[in-house]
Amino acid sequence: MPRQTQIGLMSHAELVSEHESQNANYATLKTAKLTLDLTRGKPSPEQLDLSTPLLSLPGDGDFRDGSGTDCRNYGGLTGLPELRAIFGELLGIPVEQLLAGNNASLELMHDIIVFSMLYGTPDSPRRWAADEPIKWLCPAPGYDRHFAITEALGIEMITIPMRHDGPDTRAIAKLLAEDPQIKGLWAVPNYSNPTGVVYSEEIVRELVSLPAAPDFRLFWDNAYAVHPLTDTAAPVLDVLGMAAAAGNPNRPLVFASTSKITFAGAGVSFFGASKANIDWYLGHAGKKSIGPDKVNQLRHLRFFTDAAGVREHMQKHRKLLEPKFALVRRILEDRLGASKVASWTEPRGGYFISLDVLEGTAARVIALAKDAGIALTAAGSAFPYSTDPEDKNIRIAPSFPQLPELEKAMEGLATCVLLAATEKLLD
Ligand code: PLP
Repeated sequence: MPRQTQIGLMSHAELVSEHESQNANYATLKTAKLTLDLTRGKPSPEQLDLSTPLLSLPGDGDFRDGSGTDCRNYGGLTGLPELRAIFGELLGIPVEQLLAGNNASLELMHDIIVFSMLYGTPDSPRRWAADEPIKWLCPAPGYDRHFAITEALGIEMITIPMRHDGPDTRAIAKLLAEDPQIKGLWAVPNYSNPTGVVYSEEIVRELVSLPAAPDFRLFWDNAYAVHPLTDTAAPVLDVLGMAAAAGNPNRPLVFASTSKITFAGAGVSFFGASKANIDWYLGHAGKKSIGPDKVNQLRHLRFFTDAAGVREHMQKHRKLLEPKFALVRRILEDRLGASKVASWTEPRGGYFISLDVLEGTAARVIALAKDAGIALTAAGSAFPYSTDPEDKNIRIAPSFPQLPELEKAMEGLATCVLLAATEKLLD
């Protein structure tokens, strides 16, 4: 396909001609009758194959952890100490401040907000539900499932602009100073979903020290802590230590899981926090469960052995993911670079590329793509209340499709971006 020239600088006649040419490209695209899916950040089957040995672990007769606990039986609410030590090392959290849980970190986040609504946090004068409206800071573009939790619980979400090194702390500081009803902030500090942003140390320091309500919490979702796509992995900052040093030890609640390490939805989740928060959580979690799936935890312990084992395993993921991210980047550059109707992130880790198209055209691009058989995440989904105020953001998830399918989907998407842009400019 020919490289585009800068669409915004075209004369009317050139624009009409460009529109016709993109319309023709789109008609061809539709005849291909594609069924391609770029919606969710799921590992590919090849990535899942990397963890196949888990399916036969821990194996017949191996059911005790290092402390002699019979993992087949009830109990052990904190999770296996040896597995917590491995992920404690990776996350920079002392083992006594890190719990290993069941299969989904999202469930931990949900439960902790529900517990706070029903019982209050260790720093709340009363339960949050008695103090409504509860408000939440939502750096956006962000993770749709985070926003879905706060929306479902009737929490008022406030959009915070996302910068290249983390959320806009000036806006956050102002809001926190004015409103003690703000009780939380969603954060994906390393390789954010979907922007790939890594929070800088300076931003983290501000977030842990800004004046706020005593029961304000940073929901620190480190889902991509060990997921670099380059040789230089972003550091995992010691947010708990930094918060303690700033006099706010209870502010961060750290989450992680092996969903994008072993099996998505069949891995192990982790929760790290201050001693007071851990005790508070265990008090409530102990009412809903006698303990997590320790057999799965043992299986993961045997599979990894140590933190180096996790890092080696992540390099294998990287090898499979890197060509997909490179392909997406190449097609975006080739097809959209010169047109200047789109910009995109170049993540150094994680699972997503965030594409910004011409303002006011994202929903149209997604609809055009859908009609051509290319499924994209719904318009606005990376924003609170699923509303992108500028209607320009599209999340691309390159991990799941095979390279040939990804190529077709991205070529098709580029055509839709250009068609929607020319439509808009001619409007
Ligand atoms: N947090 C983030 C930022 C994610 O992107 C995802 C999955 O895409 C999750 C959490 C889900 O984690 P889990 O499977 O542990 O619930």
